Amino acid sequence: MNKQRVELIKGDITSVEVDAIVNAANNSLLGGGGVDGAIHIAAGPELLTECESLNGCETGQSKITKGYRLKAKHVIHTVGPVWCGGYRDEHTLLASCYQTCLALAKINRIKTIAFPGISTGIYGFPKDMAALIAVTETKRFLSKNSLPEKVIFVAYGDENFETYRKLLDQ
Ligand code: ADP
Repeated sequence: MNKQRVELIKGDITSVEVDAIVNAANNSLLGGGGVDGAIHIAAGPELLTECESLNGCETGQSKITKGYRLKAKHVIHTVGPVWCGGYRDEHTLLASCYQTCLALAKINRIKTIAFPGISTGIYGFPKDMAALIAVTETKRFLSKNSLPEKVIFVAYGDENFETYRKLLDQ
């Protein structure tokens, strides 16, 4: 992978200055806990109003909105799978989240996009496996497409940062 096109940072995704941040949303797209709650608080109530018009989102799929009061111009909402021991196609569904977010970024001519660890909080997907899927799918997409120009993985905490760092150093 072209390393300049992939970056790793530690911190809060709501304050990252990019064209789009990805939200780990739920099927309703009407807000929730974790990163979803933080994004809605930072974006302001207009985000919820736009989300209400979207009629939810299937697991593994993604939808785009404006970023409102965020520094990011857009939010790409994706619905990760709830971890059920790996028996319910969770790996494929998580890969699909990254694929559909990156495809939406490309269609909307988004140059920079930041991802949290989709499904790795309340949804319980094992963090190491989730990071491997995130890096693999991103690598695959960037090798075939010139947009987005840059993908930033936002690690929330030291342990998660190390997991990504090891994968990206390979
Ligand atoms: P899910 O329901 O998809 O598991 P969560 O929001 O519970 O979503 O967690 C997804 C990941 O986002 C977790 O790794 C969590 O630590 C991380 N996270 C939570 N808040 C933030 C934030 N403000 N910025 C970046 N990452 C965050």
